[in-house]
Amino acid sequence: MPYVIIALSFGISGGIVGRYKGSSFLLWFLISALLPFLGLLAALLYRFEGSEPRRMCPRCGRAVMLHDSICTHCGEELYFPGGEPRALQGG
Ligand SMILES: [Zn+2]
Repeated sequence: MPYVIIALSFGISGGIVGRYKGSSFLLWFLISALLPFLGLLAALLYRFEGSEPRRMCPRCGRAVMLHDSICTHCGEELYFPGGEPRALQGG
């Protein structure tokens, strides 16, 4: 079987997995096509952002990462729920 067909098959499979997990179809299509089997395996095992805790920005309503101190969408300063943000260790 030609390499192209194998690459396309893995590319589509990886893309579907990536899309299913909330990531980009095209991104994982390329990764899986360039690295058949390994790319698909990475798509299956990779921990996508969707599994990380998120919270809603009070200003624009977009979902932002829990550890972000500033909204990446509108620049609103965010505080950790239930208290002040912990100070960073060291300097
Ligand atoms: Zn915002």
